[in-house]
Amino acid sequence: MTRPFGFQFDNSYIHLPEDLFSRCPLQPVKAPQMVLFNRSLAGELGLDGEALDSPAGAAILAGNEQIDGSDPIAQAYAGHQFGNLTMLGDGRAILLGEQLTPDGARRDIQLKGGGRTVFSRGGDGRAALGPMLREFIISEAMHGLGIPSTRSLAVVATGESVLRETALPGAILTRVAASHLRVGTFQYAAGRQNPALLEALVDYTLNRHYPDRQPADNPALTLLDAVMDSQVDLIVHWMRVGFIHGVLNTDNVTLSGESIDYGPCAFMDSFDPDTVFSSIDHQGRYAYGNQPTITQWNLSRFAETLLPMIDEDVDSAIEKATAIIKSFSERYSEKWLAMMKKKLGLFGDDPVDETLITDLLEWMKTHQADYTNTFRDITSEHFPADGIYQDDDFSNWHQRWQARLGRNQKPLKSSLCLMRNHNPAVVPRNHRVAEALTAAEQGDLAVTTSLLEALADPYAERDPDDRYRQPPAPEEQVCQTFCGT
Ligand code: AMP
Ligand code: MG
Repeated sequence: MTRPFGFQFDNSYIHLPEDLFSRCPLQPVKAPQMVLFNRSLAGELGLDGEALDSPAGAAILAGNEQIDGSDPIAQAYAGHQFGNLTMLGDGRAILLGEQLTPDGARRDIQLKGGGRTVFSRGGDGRAALGPMLREFIISEAMHGLGIPSTRSLAVVATGESVLRETALPGAILTRVAASHLRVGTFQYAAGRQNPALLEALVDYTLNRHYPDRQPADNPALTLLDAVMDSQVDLIVHWMRVGFIHGVLNTDNVTLSGESIDYGPCAFMDSFDPDTVFSSIDHQGRYAYGNQPTITQWNLSRFAETLLPMIDEDVDSAIEKATAIIKSFSERYSEKWLAMMKKKLGLFGDDPVDETLITDLLEWMKTHQADYTNTFRDITSEHFPADGIYQDDDFSNWHQRWQARLGRNQKPLKSSLCLMRNHNPAVVPRNHRVAEALTAAEQGDLAVTTSLLEALADPYAERDPDDRYRQPPAPEEQVCQTFCGT
C-alpha cells in the first residue's frame, strides 16, 4: 500500500462513544502557504519531511486536501476556567487522525485554527499567525529542554485574515500530541451522567498512556495515581526552568503529562514566585509559585469525575480518592527537592540541602536576580566576579554551598556535569519571542529560525554575552502575554 507523505493513520478515538466527539468536515482556506516546517519532527513521525515541506504539504496541513485514512473530528470536553466549570470542546481544532510512528508510538495530528466546529460557539474557529508561531516556538523549546510537551509540525498561513481587535493574518498550527485527553474530557463525560462513557474513557486512557499500570483491580484509582505522577513530574520541570503556563484551567491539563496550550505563557526573567504574565490572570491564580497548588486543585476535579467508578459507596470512594489527592504534596516536595539538588550539583543527602536551596531562592528574590542566569552562572568554571554577586549574603551562601559540594562523594566534575544538564543556558525569553514574532509578521522568518536553533540545544555552553542569554533591557521587558485566540 502506498502511503503518500508517510501518513499512516489508525484512529482509535472514533471507536469511543459518539458523545465524546463530533465528525467534522475539513474547511479549505484561500491560499495556504508553508511558513514554518519541522523536518526533524516529521522524521520522528515517519513522515516524508522533504515532500511535505511544499505547496502540496501546505494544502494538507491547511485542511485543503484530505489524507487517506483521516477521519476528522472535534473532541468534546469541559473545563474549569479560572475556577468556573464551562462546556468547551474543540472550537477551533480538528483532529486529522492518529499517526503510527516508526517507533510504535501513536500521535494525534491536529489542525489548530482549522475552522468552525459544533463546539465553536460564537468563535470563528480560526487562529492568527503570531499566536501559532508562538506556540510553535515555545512547544519546541520545551521539547529541547527535555520537558514533555505537545509538538509543532508546521505553521501554514491561510491567506485569509482573522478579525480580533484588528484584522490579523490567519494561520493554522499542526499540533502533535501523545493525545488530547484532558481533565476536561473526564469532566465532560461526568456531566453526561452516563457510567458507560466514563468507563470507556478510563479504559482508553490507561491503555493509551499507562499500559504498564494494567491490569488493575481499581482502574479509576490506578489512573488517578498515574496521572498524578506524570503531572507532578511535569510541574517540577516547569519550576526547574522558570516556566509559567498562564492558563492552568482543567481543559489545559493533559492526562498524558504533556504541557499543552501555549497562550499567555512565559519564562520568568528575574526570580519572583508571584510572577504572572497572563493579561487575563488578575488574581495571580496561575502565578509561578501557585502552579503546584493549582495542579493539586485540578487533579481534585479529575478525582471527582472518577468517584462513581472508584467505589459504589460514595463515602468510601471519597476516602480513597482523597488519600491519593493528599499525597500530592509529599510527592511534589520530594521530586522538587531532588530536582533542585541537581540544579545545585548535590549528590547524596545532607541536612543543609533544603536550607541551601531556599536561601539561594530567597537571595534571588531579594536581589531580583535572573532565574536562568543565576543557576547557569554558578555552573560556570569562570564564575562572574562582578555585579550582583558582589554581595555579602551571596558570598556567605556561596561558601556554604562550596563546603557542601566538598561533602559530595563524587568529583566536582560530576557536579558540574549534573548542573549543566539541569540548568539551561537558553530559554525562550519573552523579549526574544516578541522580537521573533514581530519580524515574522513582517515576513522575516530568519529571527524565528535562529531562535529555534538556539532553543534546540539549550544546555550547550554559550558565551555569557550571547544574545539569547541576555535578560531584557528595561525597554525590552514584556510584562504581559495574551491569550492565543
Ligand atoms: P483555549 O483558551 O485555547 O484553551 O480555548 C478555550 C476554548 O475556547 C476552547 O474550547 C477553544 O476551542 C475555544 N476557542 C478558542 N478560540 C476560538 C476561536 N477562535 N473559535 C472558536 N473557538 C475558540
Ligand atoms: Mg485549551
